[in-house]
Amino acid sequence: MLTFEKMYSMGHEEVVFFSDPSCNLKAIIAIHNTTLGPALGGTRMWNYKNIDEAIEDALRLSRGMTYKNAISGLNLGGGKAVIMGDPTKDKSEALFRSYGRFVESLNGRYITAEDVNTTVNDMEYIFSETSNVTGVAEVNGGSGNPSPWTARGVFRGMEASCLKVYGDRSLKGKVIALQGAGSVGCHLGKHLFDSGAKVFFTDIVEENIARFKEIVPNSEFVSPNDIYDLKADIYAPCALGATINDQTIDRLKVKIVCGAANNQLAENRHGDMLKEKGILYAPDYLINAGGVMNVSIEFEGWSAEKATKMVDKIFDTTLKIFKLSDEQNIPVYRATDLMAEQRIESIRNIKGKYLGNVSHRFPGRVSRR
Ligand code: NAD
Repeated sequence: MLTFEKMYSMGHEEVVFFSDPSCNLKAIIAIHNTTLGPALGGTRMWNYKNIDEAIEDALRLSRGMTYKNAISGLNLGGGKAVIMGDPTKDKSEALFRSYGRFVESLNGRYITAEDVNTTVNDMEYIFSETSNVTGVAEVNGGSGNPSPWTARGVFRGMEASCLKVYGDRSLKGKVIALQGAGSVGCHLGKHLFDSGAKVFFTDIVEENIARFKEIVPNSEFVSPNDIYDLKADIYAPCALGATINDQTIDRLKVKIVCGAANNQLAENRHGDMLKEKGILYAPDYLINAGGVMNVSIEFEGWSAEKATKMVDKIFDTTLKIFKLSDEQNIPVYRATDLMAEQRIESIRNIKGKYLGNVSHRFPGRVSRR
């Protein structure tokens, strides 16, 4: 159940419920923190068992977006939306357009994007009713599929991790155990192939396995359960969350964990355990932020050049986090949270000043104050 105590304890500013029986829309938008700017986060469609489960997801995911957007250097806060429904049966133009009108009613406090079970097509319907949506089709000034950008960021995270562990950022000759040959996994596989790494990979869908073999011709398939036991340099989780857990952690024979999946640590204590085992953990929500970085520039006018520059900064930020982790002798996951919190706090502090009339500071741009 949603209570103010819960919102206080997790730090949420606003949670809004929207319903439209005419198209069976049941949506919740959670705005966690807007210190850095409007709350950006995707809209997830899921067959939740009940409203409490949907609320929990919206609260947890929106908080995660505050940290992700902050650590990525974006002038954006964190939010997330969930639509309750079966994505295979309940989608319609009316449902997404009705949802788009509700997003519009928030007057720019929340900007939406694709997430699990929503597509560019769905974003297009939302775009018919509000401009506060990113990830629309390229023909409409959008940035298209985020996965190549996410993969690029993960690859930069791998380079930073190799520099830290081996003193050289090159992936040449490194052995990678890659879990999940999906959209991000395939693009990451291509980067790894081009850089001269050797990839062992796993997946559970035949079609995806075959596609990966085509993209990374010298890769070798291993069964899903064997991926944790491989003697490799890097374990790259690109399928599911929580794969660093009590069952897997003692099996890992790698020096680095670096992949695209969200919430890779089942619990924070698994991040402590990785540190104790001497395995370097690349901060998941930073290195997989290439996709959100990419959509974030749609408002200024998207270009591949801008997106590339932005995503490549993941290399430097990852190194800064490793440094903070060493200096304070804290696990990487904690150093990442700390750096994100420090950025939000420092910007909150400078916002105490009265600026007078600022509407003409940046002609042609929308103020994101
Ligand atoms: P995807 O659905 O395209 O790919 C996931 C792949 O993992 C699929 O091929 C699936 O068959 C495979 N898989 C599922 N269960 C598995 C298992 N038990 N063992 C091995 N393989 C399994 O998803 P994606 O877009 O490539 O995203 C991959 C991960 O990265 C997800 O966790 C996602 O949340 C995260 N992520 C993606 C993006 C993005 O831009 N797509 C951005 C940030 C984070």
